[in-house]
Amino acid sequence: MKPHRPEVVVFDLGKVLLDFDYSIAARCIAARSQQDEATVRSVLDHSPLLFRYETGLMSRQEFFEHVRDQTGFDGDLSEFARCFADIFWPIDPMVAVHQELRKRGVSTWLFSNTNDLAMEHIQAHFPFIHDFEGWVLSYEVRSMKPAPGMYETLERRTGKHGAQIVYLDDRPENVQAGLERGWCAWVHEEPRRSRARLVELGLLD
Ligand SMILES: [Mg+2]
Repeated sequence: MKPHRPEVVVFDLGKVLLDFDYSIAARCIAARSQQDEATVRSVLDHSPLLFRYETGLMSRQEFFEHVRDQTGFDGDLSEFARCFADIFWPIDPMVAVHQELRKRGVSTWLFSNTNDLAMEHIQAHFPFIHDFEGWVLSYEVRSMKPAPGMYETLERRTGKHGAQIVYLDDRPENVQAGLERGWCAWVHEEPRRSRARLVELGLLD
């Protein structure tokens, strides 16, 4: 059988197209709570809470109430949302790579473990997010990378499989799950190197 030509490019979001720092959220929430920044950060980042929220098993209201109960945060949901979601900034060379692919008519898909508060903020502040052909998001699919659910959904929605799918992610376990399905995947480290891979594949000049 002839090898498949790549037909879609699948992008992880965090640390590929947008950088982020949860300590920004922890500092903002700690300033209005009874806990210090490190404690707030562990509530946000290292507890099963975020996993349940990003797997769609918990609403934003429930997530907010849990964090509020554990930290003593004294603001409302909209104040919490501002603290929690305003933690991103663009990785400009990769945003440019994405734009170049779209200009050449390449189908691109967003493939992210995320939550609705983050996505609402990102849609309002980062216009490139609207240029993808489609999105596969953990809280909508109710499954997180590297479990199979999001990968199966991506294959179903695009109608592509195996080496027709090119996939970049900064997390090796997520990339590994793609490789095991035959996707053409690599661990994204530097924009220059990922761009060079896309050139080798004939997707960019
Ligand atoms: Mg990432």
